[in-house]
Amino acid sequence: MTLALADILGKISDLGLLAALTIAFRELSRLVAHRTKRALLMGSLLGAAAWLSSYVHTTTTATTLPHNAFVFVGLAGAFFGRSGLLTALLVASASLSLSVELPLTDVVRFALSGLAGLAWGQALNPPGRRGFLALAGLGMVLNTALAADILLDPNALMAGAGTEAAFTALMTVLSTMFFGVLLERERNILDSELRLLHLANTDELTGLNNRRALLDIFDGLDGTDRALLVIDIDNFKSVNDSHGHLAGDNVIRHVAQHLRSAIRSGDLVCRYGGEEFAAIIRAKDVAEAIAAAERIRLDIESTRVRIGQLALQVTVSVGVAWMGKDADYTNSFDAADHALYKAKRSGRNQVASAPLRANGEQQLTG
Ligand code: GH3
Ligand code: MG
Ligand code: MG
Repeated sequence: MTLALADILGKISDLGLLAALTIAFRELSRLVAHRTKRALLMGSLLGAAAWLSSYVHTTTTATTLPHNAFVFVGLAGAFFGRSGLLTALLVASASLSLSVELPLTDVVRFALSGLAGLAWGQALNPPGRRGFLALAGLGMVLNTALAADILLDPNALMAGAGTEAAFTALMTVLSTMFFGVLLERERNILDSELRLLHLANTDELTGLNNRRALLDIFDGLDGTDRALLVIDIDNFKSVNDSHGHLAGDNVIRHVAQHLRSAIRSGDLVCRYGGEEFAAIIRAKDVAEAIAAAERIRLDIESTRVRIGQLALQVTVSVGVAWMGKDADYTNSFDAADHALYKAKRSGRNQVASAPLRANGEQQLTG
């Protein structure tokens, strides 16, 4: 029996590391929205864990790297794809070669384990299919480096290393399942949070952002010159009255589609109310904003909505408020609404603009 107490303690402390890594994943998921960046960061953390686990092990028990070091890199490949694997490999090899003598065979073991994990991750995609059995399978796959050792040197088993190898293999399976279950749980929570957030910010009829999202968008605007356009369908009530509510819905969807394709990437459009839309567009001055609004108005005027046998012409009126770099929600909407009112009063199917009032100043009418 060659199983040392230090070996067992080492593996238990690795479980602690894995638990800490799932907590790190949860925090990172909320801080870093970009998937690849997140994978790179998690790969680095798993690479660092490989180093930490080896460091503890080699300073207390032996001079060879513990099997778990390779498992950490395998986990990076399995759960964080190529980017995760690449950074895990880099961080693990670079940090280890600074603290211990790292033979080339160990670098090969890292790569083997990482590629085994990567293959598992690619085979079981999307992540929804990763249950207990699949995770146990990953644990077995991550014993690749260990299996390679045994294949290369079967005599070691006879010399008494068998119990230790079996213990290591079992611990790999258990700790992989432990990490996998925690990580997949975090992922599912994150996915449903994102789904709910999307639902809360999306208008059901058109798929555009809704009014709630617009408030958040206003809060997050950077210091670029922008304008607010408020777009309202003309005489929409008569569409509902003459052709029915469903036809009215079609008209709303039609206008939404045109607005979506009319704005440039980086600009935003939302359904603000029943047949009212708002767009925040980049414009260096009011003339540019009015020109953009005029293009939108013309685009909608020149198309037809099919309702049964009918091809209905729809027009919109647009109120423009140039906001410059400062975006105050209330002032901007006051001005754009006022401009829209002017456009409606002047006969509809028009664009009008109004200046933002300075704080405390009375809004001029007319
Ligand atoms: P104006 O040119 O002055 O804007 O006239 P309008 O008829 O478009 O304006 P009004 O505000 O009087 O009418 C808006 C109508 O939009 C009233 C409401 O029944 C209808 N509406 C609001 N939401 C929806 C919706 O989701 N679907 C449909 N079909 N109609 C809606
Ligand atoms: Mg209206
Ligand atoms: Mg209207």
